[in-house]
Amino acid sequence: MTRRKARMAVRNNAQITRLGGPVVEARVVQGEFSVSEAVRVGPKHLLAEVLLISEDTITVQVYETTAGLRTGDLVQGSGHPLSIPLGPGLLGGIFDGLLRPLEGTDSRYVQPGQIARSASTRFPFRPEITQDTEVRGGMVIGRVGFGGEAELPCLAPPEVQGIAVEVATEGDYTVDEPICRLETESGELTDVTLQHFWPVREPRPVRKRLAVEEPLFTGQRIIDAFFPIVRGGKAAMPGGFGTGKTILLQTLAKWCDADVIVYVGCGERGNEMTAVLDEFPELEDPRTGQRLMDRSVIIANTSNMPVAAREASIYTGITVAEYFRDMGLHAALFADSTSRWAEALREISGRLGELPGEAGYPAYLASRKAEFYERAAVVRTLTDDIGSVSVIGAVSPPGGDFSEPVTLHTQRVVSTFWPLDRDRARARFFPAIDPLRAYSGYTDELGAWWRQAGNSDWAAQRRRFLDLLQEQAHLERMARIVGKDALPPSQQLTLLCAELFNEGFLRQNAFSEVDRHASPKRQIAMLRVLERFVDCSEEALAAGAEFEAIAELPVLRVLRRMGEDISEAEVDARFPALLTEIERSLAALSEPDKQEAPA
Ligand code: ADP
Ligand code: MG
Repeated sequence: MTRRKARMAVRNNAQITRLGGPVVEARVVQGEFSVSEAVRVGPKHLLAEVLLISEDTITVQVYETTAGLRTGDLVQGSGHPLSIPLGPGLLGGIFDGLLRPLEGTDSRYVQPGQIARSASTRFPFRPEITQDTEVRGGMVIGRVGFGGEAELPCLAPPEVQGIAVEVATEGDYTVDEPICRLETESGELTDVTLQHFWPVREPRPVRKRLAVEEPLFTGQRIIDAFFPIVRGGKAAMPGGFGTGKTILLQTLAKWCDADVIVYVGCGERGNEMTAVLDEFPELEDPRTGQRLMDRSVIIANTSNMPVAAREASIYTGITVAEYFRDMGLHAALFADSTSRWAEALREISGRLGELPGEAGYPAYLASRKAEFYERAAVVRTLTDDIGSVSVIGAVSPPGGDFSEPVTLHTQRVVSTFWPLDRDRARARFFPAIDPLRAYSGYTDELGAWWRQAGNSDWAAQRRRFLDLLQEQAHLERMARIVGKDALPPSQQLTLLCAELFNEGFLRQNAFSEVDRHASPKRQIAMLRVLERFVDCSEEALAAGAEFEAIAELPVLRVLRRMGEDISEAEVDARFPALLTEIERSLAALSEPDKQEAPA
């Protein structure tokens, strides 16, 4: 293959002159390096990337621990940018930031210099083209077993083009064996294998980016019904320590309706990542009843791995997600936490002696964040399929201060923003998304989807409940001054309704069998009963009912607990009855005669 030929022809090398943690300087001995070129460092061939070139000196960042390197050690060029192998064997796997498997080794660490996945594993392949087929980039060549249970299309790498002169028969192949030989227009022969390399910093090509229109449905009520994310969308979740970022990301990963989950653990504490590594493979896929891992790829970079690898893990993750998107699948990427990546950029930048910007972060922090999130999209693929990559990133601002640079730059590039509120988390109100500061830029697009799901009133209803929360915040400020009891009954009722909405709808326990996921139908039913309560209670108050009597109605208890108490299977049976109960009990309060008469 052309790429491999290029790799062998390369002769550029350099000698280490200076060591500084993950950043190494070397004097060029032979050949020419280019910026972003992947290089191998030292006797263990550690993976690294060229950051800077000045005269005869190159500066590289090393993605593996540099202990043991010495000045004079060799740096060898590869002639191509930092790339990862994309092919079967990804689903169900746990990898490091450079897509090297963490399983099958004694430790959770890859051997220094290790390249990729096992070369000896064979995958079942079934061709779908014949000799003389004209093959273009992205075209389906056949089907391949992908690890897990999945059989997926095997696509020609994006850049190839030619006539198939040989096609492999059905059978088991390693990732490097040719499954198809192409003759290009110029008469050159190129082999296509099950696996191809792709440079992680380069977005994979598509035919067209499309407008978003479908939600990435998560089963989390505060998200789906109030601050939705779409397939192909980008969302950020900033929150201080302990506000529930990791739990929420994992809950979304488990329940969202993406076909493929890419979970990037980026620089979080080792024990947190261990929890993911231990739990994830055990999880049942709520959608299929099989293992969730069968449609997941986990990329793990804990805080004890070298900082430079954090950046690699982010780009590796999004490239893997794009690869599945190109098969016409909906992929969702979760990154916990993008702040650790930013801190790695800051550390490397410091070592390079660059002029520090805000809070010590390099000036290019903003553009790096933007480049990453911009790769989220719903697209028409090269094969004219529809696929998407959605990106959801956690941000860990120090001290929970959302005005710090990483949060601000991220907020600028995402369309959905879920800030986690410390006070809510402290009160163990989860998910702790602050409904007054959260937003979604996709609500205009999703009205049609909700209408089809059975709620033609979604936009107005959403507006109404958000207004209710605004009003609550305003009244609570007043109540702190004048005392709650001094508020007129109508305002006390507003506070009651807002509290009901918070408790009954926004609060959702990720650990409850019944409540951890709410279908569109259940979300609609829950909102409907709450809205009916607001309407009927206001009417009752206007017709002379006492606020205290409303506040003591037994139906309130049902509403507060309905997420936990009314399961998916009971939606049809219990919500209509609940509506009737709301109407009846409130009507009774404003008609005292009836209330006293026995039913
Ligand atoms: P962070 O990653 O922001 O530091 P975690 O996700 O580890 O925070 O959450 C801290 C704790 O809060 C968890 O151990 C759990 O007890 C609780 N928690 C967080 N989110 C939820 C949730 N959605 N439902 C129930 N409990 C939660
Ligand atoms: Mg966490």
